[in-house]
Amino acid sequence: MSRAFNFAAGPATLPEPVLRQAQEELMDWHGVGASIVELSHRGPEFMEVAAQAEADLRRLVSIPDDYAVLFLQGGATAQQALMALNFTSPGQRVDYVVTGHWGKTALKQVRPYCDVNVAADGEPGGFRDIPGRETWKLSPDAAYVHYTANETIHGVEFHDIPDVGEVPLFADFSSSIASEPLDVSRFGLIYGGAQKNLGPVGVAVVIVRRDLLERAGQPRAEILDYRAHLKGDSMLNTPPTWNWYLAGLVFKWMLAEGGVEEFARRNARKAGLLYDVIDHSGGFYRNDVAVAARSRMNIPFFLHDPSLDAAFLERAAQNGMISLKGHRVLGGMRASIYNAMPEAGVQALATFMRDFQQRNG
Ligand SMILES: *Cc1c(COP(=O)(O)O)cnc(C)c1O
Repeated sequence: MSRAFNFAAGPATLPEPVLRQAQEELMDWHGVGASIVELSHRGPEFMEVAAQAEADLRRLVSIPDDYAVLFLQGGATAQQALMALNFTSPGQRVDYVVTGHWGKTALKQVRPYCDVNVAADGEPGGFRDIPGRETWKLSPDAAYVHYTANETIHGVEFHDIPDVGEVPLFADFSSSIASEPLDVSRFGLIYGGAQKNLGPVGVAVVIVRRDLLERAGQPRAEILDYRAHLKGDSMLNTPPTWNWYLAGLVFKWMLAEGGVEEFARRNARKAGLLYDVIDHSGGFYRNDVAVAARSRMNIPFFLHDPSLDAAFLERAAQNGMISLKGHRVLGGMRASIYNAMPEAGVQALATFMRDFQQRNG
């Protein structure tokens, strides 16, 4: 068996020790005689798995007690719609800061319910930078301000939490949660699908200030109601037990590796290595994002001659590096280097890129 270095953006690579443990426990979880996914979500075994996963995530991300944690279905996209239903009254104003594809998706989800104000928009600049905070046109009466902490496709990342005054700050952390220390207390709500940095696809995490949950939103069915989900321990209906369990193993692995401080150091080294190759390639490789807004997690890059793209991908795969093809929105290449991507994988890619340039430059 040989595992490739997998640079996929999501679903993405998982830590090898986690996959091995899941494999080991698949036929018989802790001597129960069945796998964890074959047991009732209301039984003591899964209840323990679920509670432990929440406790570990709270420790990993330093989530204060006055924040609730939900494990939900529907991915990040469903949360983008649910935040309008849960935290606005009909037609209320909401502010969106759009710095890439996912910011656009987020505002598309709330348009049917809210008066959307695009407070800042990076699209006229091709999503290559974050519009300066002083240019944002925020509404004093907005229910919340939403932004995307890391744009997974465009490779644009906030490296500071923006100051938006008293209005609650809502943020999509799908592709950067737990990649570095974060002051959760600055936010009203943080959400993310697990399939980038936290585990397998099929479960989304919502971290929300408890007092905001008490506010009345638009009328909603119980299954769309965050308050009901909290009351029901994220088990209003059958939860995605396999995904929740695997995410829990990933949380444990991250804690054992040294937590978010350690991953912040590794991620900075990993990203630095690739940007260095790109920036010192004399234009053979190119990344178009303003240096101060470059992502540590997703690095889109282009070859100066797109006719070399196919050969680049083929040779990379032959060398044990897969999923480097860029998103169809941008083309080119993209290396996604989340927590589970070892430094050895990024070193291998950097070496390969230099070598490919030498042969084809
Ligand atoms: C992947 C991604 C999404 C969409 O996630 P789904 O789980 O597919 O709904 C939203 N926002 C960001 C930043 C993402 O990376």
